Amino acid sequence: ELVPMKRALFSVSDSTGLLDFARALHERGVALVATGSTCKALIDAGLPATNVADVIGFPEILGGRVKTLHPKIHGGLLGIRNDPQHAAEMEEHGIEGFDLVAVNLYPFEKTIASTEDYATAVENIDIGGPAMTRAAAKNHGFVSIVVDPADYASVLEALDANGGATPLAFRKRLAAKAFARTAAYDAAVSNWFARVLEESAPAWRSFGGSLREIMRYGENPHQQAAFYTTGEVRPGVSTAKQLQGKQLSYNNINDTDAAFELVAEFDPAETAAVAIIKHANPCGVATGATLAEAYDKALRCDPVSAFGGIVALNRTLDADAAKKIVEIFTEVIIAPDATDEAIAIVAAKKNLRLLVTGGLPDAAAKGLTVKTVAGGLLVQDRDAGRVQKADLKVVTKRVPTEAELDDLLFAFRVAKHVKSNAIVYVKDGATVGVGAGQMSRVDSSTIAAKKAADAARTAGLPETLAKGSVVASDAFFPFADGLLAAAEAGATAIIQPGGSMRDDEVIAAADEAGLAMVFTGMRHFRH
Ligand code: 5GP
Repeated sequence: ELVPMKRALFSVSDSTGLLDFARALHERGVALVATGSTCKALIDAGLPATNVADVIGFPEILGGRVKTLHPKIHGGLLGIRNDPQHAAEMEEHGIEGFDLVAVNLYPFEKTIASTEDYATAVENIDIGGPAMTRAAAKNHGFVSIVVDPADYASVLEALDANGGATPLAFRKRLAAKAFARTAAYDAAVSNWFARVLEESAPAWRSFGGSLREIMRYGENPHQQAAFYTTGEVRPGVSTAKQLQGKQLSYNNINDTDAAFELVAEFDPAETAAVAIIKHANPCGVATGATLAEAYDKALRCDPVSAFGGIVALNRTLDADAAKKIVEIFTEVIIAPDATDEAIAIVAAKKNLRLLVTGGLPDAAAKGLTVKTVAGGLLVQDRDAGRVQKADLKVVTKRVPTEAELDDLLFAFRVAKHVKSNAIVYVKDGATVGVGAGQMSRVDSSTIAAKKAADAARTAGLPETLAKGSVVASDAFFPFADGLLAAAEAGATAIIQPGGSMRDDEVIAAADEAGLAMVFTGMRHFRH
């Protein structure tokens, strides 16, 4: 099971740690073989390395497309050393085995992130690299395959702990990682093709991801979890820079994503916007002249639930907003950017995670969402639907005022990000009551109204915050009851998709209660 390390093959695009690793192997008596530029780098560093071209007696051709695709290389990677037939054939053809391969592939993912040029992308699809990686990984019985410079140190540790040899269990782990790498690489190529071909919703077969990190645990401590990135360039939790705080948990990532996608609905050039999220649902969302003002308004909606929440901002976090946010226990802050002053204020709370994204995602951009079901994946377009004022159809005798219209549109944008059944009360650009995730729309209405009354009580106000508010429903009211509950709570105007069999009944009830109501023609279920 222990294989002594005598000969190593290097072919790298990312030369991080290469020279130190190669030198350490050389000092342990390992012979070095390498492809063109990798070999040159080793020789320039004073290490004795043999060029692959000299091993195979054939030059690198076709502009580098064929460097290592040769029996003297692949035979050396795939030969079963203790099989007499293999050994005899290797001897006959002058094939020498490799005990270690250090490969990292042409940077395809980085290339497509930095250029739109088709030919450049295609030329950066590595062929020989994955072939060597897979060959060496298949033959892990004899070969160590290293695809990540971060693993160089562990190879040396293994050698030193085993008298210059590697144990089988170690080689197996390297092989598993190698196949994960080639799978992710091919998925990146396939996803890129889908994009080039303008398939707005690539089929699930091309839906791949690269392992970003292994999480401590999943939604619950007994569940294992990992974070994969799809290579989609969208400012958000997967691309953000974490300036401080503990590692993000599975739930943090899920909630932070929900929070940031929600504030991205509001154009920072028009208004500051803040969302406070708990369990992927907003417990307060508001717009304002400044982030500090918007935060105050958002917090007022449900200060009890906001404890331990995630705060997302649509503008650069400034000192005023930072001071307010750190006043209560908050898990994560995510914003396009943060001022130095704000960063210093947040630094006082060591565990509070601060993420900056460099921008806001385009709320109308296409993309995919994925959900698992037993034995399958459900893949759909992201809900990029955005109702505009011009889309609204007034269906009641009373026409909403301009102020009501602004709040109605705001409420509907928020409702899109609330789990169904979603009912959202809004007043003056701030949610005042959110009812989420109930099986009945009436229950969501009742809960939202109760939240508005609770919030008023907490703030020491005599009247429910729902008084004079507007209300949004993510899907139509099937009966008048949910709507009447909202009117009773104090709402004066309603926004909903419409389209129920009983729309006439619901409209008549609204007219009777003196409500203004608009239909959007678009539903925002979110389960
Ligand atoms: P070097 O810079 O050393 O000349 O080449 C290293 C890169 O070439 C590595 O990223 C490796 O994966 C890739 N590579 C090695 N052999 C081949 C081959 O035969 N064809 C192609 N297309 N790439 C190769």
